[in-house]
Amino acid sequence: MKSQVARPKPPVRERLADHERPRAVLKGPPITVTCTCGERHGVDYGAVWECTCGRRWNTAQIKADEYARLRRLQLRFRAVPVALGIATSGLAMYFLLTGNSFSLFFLLPLALILWGMMVRPVLRRRYSKALGVLPRWNLYSEPSGGDGIKEAPAVSPRPRTP
Ligand SMILES: [Zn+2]
Repeated sequence: MKSQVARPKPPVRERLADHERPRAVLKGPPITVTCTCGERHGVDYGAVWECTCGRRWNTAQIKADEYARLRRLQLRFRAVPVALGIATSGLAMYFLLTGNSFSLFFLLPLALILWGMMVRPVLRRRYSKALGVLPRWNLYSEPSGGDGIKEAPAVSPRPRTP
């Protein structure tokens, strides 16, 4: 008895270009559920995952305010690259409009180097650290076929680099 609704496969372009599912930011990050049998799966908040071994895990058991903390954290770290992108675009626009297009050849590589070598590594470290502080939740597998197993696997927010 499968309870999880099969997701339609995203188009190829989306799968290639995207390292996370569409709308993942607005919906919040997926939660990594590790089944007692060892299988792991990223589950959306509030969704039920049925493992191949038959156990069912319901992420709605996680308190909404605790999940909101994780979500706020993700959004906070997501804001940095967005702000950097907007600032770079603004500067590029400024150089273009003031006829200083030669500066663009310096600005764009500089922005990429700044992002790749300085901002991103620091951001990743801080994000991982911040995720580590968050609680790990223990879920109880829901009865599947009436066996009523009560086990607590490790559930953790999936570290996702901004
Ligand atoms: Zn399992």
